[in-house]
Amino acid sequence: GALAVTLAACGGEGAGGGSGAGDDAGAEEGGLVGVAMPTETSERWIADGAAVEEGLEAAGYEVDLQFAGDDIPTQQQQIDAMINAGAEALIIAAIDGTTLTGQLEAAAAQDIPVISYDRLIRDSEDVDFYVSFDNFQVGVAQANALLNGLGLVDEEGEPVEDAPEGPFNVELFAGSLDDNNAHFFWDGAMSVLEPLIDDGTLVVPSEQTDIDQAATQRWLQENAQSRMEDLLTAHYDGNEQVDGVLSPYDGLSRGIIEALRSAGYEDDAMPVITGQDAEIASVKLIADGVQDSTIFKDTRLLADQAVTAAEALLAGEEPEANNTTDYDNGLKVVPSYLLPVVTVYADNIESELVDSGYWTAEEVESGV
Ligand code: BGC
Repeated sequence: GALAVTLAACGGEGAGGGSGAGDDAGAEEGGLVGVAMPTETSERWIADGAAVEEGLEAAGYEVDLQFAGDDIPTQQQQIDAMINAGAEALIIAAIDGTTLTGQLEAAAAQDIPVISYDRLIRDSEDVDFYVSFDNFQVGVAQANALLNGLGLVDEEGEPVEDAPEGPFNVELFAGSLDDNNAHFFWDGAMSVLEPLIDDGTLVVPSEQTDIDQAATQRWLQENAQSRMEDLLTAHYDGNEQVDGVLSPYDGLSRGIIEALRSAGYEDDAMPVITGQDAEIASVKLIADGVQDSTIFKDTRLLADQAVTAAEALLAGEEPEANNTTDYDNGLKVVPSYLLPVVTVYADNIESELVDSGYWTAEEVESGV
């Protein structure tokens, strides 16, 4: 957008400090930037990839955008190929945050700056910057949305007077353990839920309250669905009802809903189910009252931040960070720019998602 174009102009003035001719070429003639995204199965990454590509091209860069089908060797090969093709900067959303050390070493050896996109790349000194959302707050917002659906807190997360006493039966889902974000989402959510589990307001009949038990390998919908089926079979007999499910991602939420439907839950009597990403199929489920909430992360804003950071690094400058403490990747604290998130319920789909142009009213209506 306009911001990217403005910054391109600044970069073009030759901020100096760069490590050679490549930098100036990047700023003035538009060098190549490699953009590595994990998968096309989750809708957001397609939107992320398209928005980053568009922003970089508008700023005059050439873009090599690749999706890795959630396959780690494929992502490694794609990044190797970007480096070999002369990429001057890399923007990477890792599949597994711990498997790119070799690629990043090769990039560093050639002074190629690396931006970790959305998910923190771990165990490497060679990550220059991190752009993401406030991932701990995503978890806090998901937990508050769960409590809100149960009637315990208002939409600001404040306790409600004369709230029902419960106890409520809830089950907990986490994301893929190799994704650094999954731990932030979980920790944020548990910071809110744990006291209520401890005081008995919330009961977890499966007793699966560790992230290792709740995890969903590779964030796959079918893995969440089969775990939910197992939980229902093992821990909910004829009389027990599930009142709420903490789900960290819309794809998982849809798997959980499928399992509940198979077990006989009607769409108008679903437990309170959370989500993330405002995927269109889930937005429709929210509009229809089946899923309760999702966390909206505006990927257009994240893409803008990535472009801005890439331009700064290519001009030999430090990108502006708003967090320099929370994202330790095991070897260094990576300076970060974190964006805020918004909880979406049925009643603010229009104001948050339609009015902002993220989805059209027709898309919400049809769910595709
Ligand atoms: C992202 C989420 C996404 C999940 C599954 C996480 O790293 O931050 O937005 O739902 O991956 O793709």
